[in-house]
Parts: sequence; C-alpha cells; structure tokens
Amino acid sequence: MPISVRADLAELPDYVPGRKIPGAIVLSSNEVSTHAPASVLAAITDAAADVNRYPQMANDDVQAKTAAYLGQPEERVAIGAGSVALAQQVLQAMCVEGQEVVFAWRSFEAYPIITQIVGARDVRVPLTADYRHDLDAMAGAVTDDTRVLFIANPNNPTGTALRTAELERFLDRVPDHVLVVLDEAYREFATDPDVPDGLALAEGRENLAVLRTFSKAYGLAGVRVGYSVAPPAVTAAVRKVGIPFAVNRMAQAAAIAAMDAADELLARCGPVAVERERVRSALLEMGYEVPPSQANFVWLLLGDRTAAFNQHCLEQKIVVRAFVGDGARVTIGLPEENDAFLAAARTFPPPRN
Ligand code: PMP
Repeated sequence: MPISVRADLAELPDYVPGRKIPGAIVLSSNEVSTHAPASVLAAITDAAADVNRYPQMANDDVQAKTAAYLGQPEERVAIGAGSVALAQQVLQAMCVEGQEVVFAWRSFEAYPIITQIVGARDVRVPLTADYRHDLDAMAGAVTDDTRVLFIANPNNPTGTALRTAELERFLDRVPDHVLVVLDEAYREFATDPDVPDGLALAEGRENLAVLRTFSKAYGLAGVRVGYSVAPPAVTAAVRKVGIPFAVNRMAQAAAIAAMDAADELLARCGPVAVERERVRSALLEMGYEVPPSQANFVWLLLGDRTAAFNQHCLEQKIVVRAFVGDGARVTIGLPEENDAFLAAARTFPPPRN
C-alpha cells in the first residue's frame, strides 16, 4: 500500500503570507517599515559568529531577561519561534483530539489552522455588527469540551480592541476549565488607555495566558521570537511540546538586544498610531468603511470588491492583504508609503449603485 498523509489535511487552508513583490510597497504583513537599530543588528551578527553551535535549548538567557523585563516569575514565561508557534504549543499542551477551541471569526487566520493540526475542533463565533468580539456569544459557545478560547486584542484583521471592563466581566464568566489565550501581538500600538494590559488581567487568574511577540512593535519579524506568560503548569507543558532548538541563536540574541533597546523601539509605535488615525480619516472621507483600529493596520470592508481592490493596489505596486469576499487589511507604514496607498485607494472606482 502506498504511503498516505493525513486525509483531513486536504481541507486545511494554507496560511497565506503577505506577498513580496520586488520594488513594491509592502503593507501586507503588519510589520514595521523601520529597520532594526544598530545595537540589535550587532547582536545578531555577534550571535552568527557561533552559528556552528546549537543555541541554548531552553532559551535560558532570553527567558530570564524576558521575565525580568516583564516583572514576571520565570516559571510563567516561555519563549517560542514567534507567538504563532507558542499559540500552537498551547493547543498541543491543552487539547486532545476532538476537544474544542473557541475563537472569533474573523480573527487571526492561524487559529483554525493550528486547531486542525492538533486534531481539535474549531468553534468560530461571528464578530458583532461593528466587527468586535461578541463576548456574550463566545461565553455561550463554551461547552464541557472546550479547552482553549483565543482572543486577539487588538483583533487581526479588524484592528478593533476590547476594553478593560468588558474583558474582565467576560473572564469572570468563563468557566475555570477553559484557558483563555489573550493574543496581544499588537498591544504596543494601542493608544486608548482603556485597552487592557493582559499581564495585569492575569494577576489572580489561573486560566489566562498572554501571547506577545517581538515581531511587530520590536521590529523582529524576520528572526521569529515571541513569548507566552501563563500559569506555571501551562508554561511547563508549553515548553515541553516545543520543537528543540526552535528559537535560533540569532533570534535569542536579537530579542535580548531588543529589550535593551525597548525605549527606542517602542518610541516608534506612537507615530505609527498617529499615521493610523490619519489613514483611517482619509479613507472614511473617501467613503470606505473602516472600523476604528488600535493596531498597526486598518481593515477596509470591501465585500465582493475585495479582489478588484487588491488588483488595483498591486497595479500601483502596493501590496495589501486581501481576504477575498470580505475585506483588505492594510498595514500602516511610513508616511510616504501610506500616502502612496491612499493615492491608490482614491483612484479605486467606487461601487456602482
Ligand atoms: N497573533 C496575531 C493576532 C497575529 O496577527 C500574528 C502575526 N500575524 C501573530 C500572532 C504571530 O506573530 P509572530 O509569530 O510573528 O509572533
């Protein structure tokens, strides 16, 4: 009998990375457009000198540094090859086949993929009419089989964010057997002080995990490193299921250098948020529907015009992230990149009535 791969993987959607087109303005992957500072590049180069040696398997230095940086006990912190790897490790640590993972839809496109990879069942709860998490419906979707519930805050791709009181009320309602994973990949771009800090929410709660990343605000998407903060038992299991040596030595060194340069790196987020508001206002003025965003991107509701919008942008050498039939997510770049995008949006033909 010939070999066969898992039949259920045939239905597994591919994770679609933002496209890279030579010479184009890339606004498709929610990266920052600014290069890493010299101190971070030097740390990466120094680490590369020993590339013939394996990195620290347990990420000892970066884990200790991250714990100190966050003021968290180390037993709560795990390091992974990007927060998406940690999200998958959380599921591997929590779920066996047939158990349920609840998340909003739309939300981060990796959630259904990693859920299926671990053999769990996804339970997708539609966003509200204003593109926010429907917390009542999400609480209502929890069953005895639910093991994990993801909340991306701010949400990808909508940019919308939950505020402290509503999230606290929700966390109080979720049964103890469900691990709520608060995915804060974009938290550093939030400007509303009422967008909660997941680590503060986690105090005194034994069923909340927080995922964060060095990919976005810290500008290290290319080296792949992120972290989770979770109850010690969850953290121990998350570490256990990780691929050995998944975080390479350049990534470990870069994360440490990025924490040392945090003031400089995080100072770049404010101007991104200012640009976000400028871009959104301009789009609203053009007649686009764009929910308020607390992230480093905006979401344009385009419905069946999404594919045409994507094509129009590509013709102007601007790469956005199209979710065909739904909308386009556009990363906030440098002011001149945003201007180029706005010029493209302005020349996209309006819908015919
Ligand atoms: N969570 C969310 C909500 C994201 O949008 C992303 C990246 N697109 C990630 C996690 C993963 O980021 P990384 O693996 O680079 O840390």
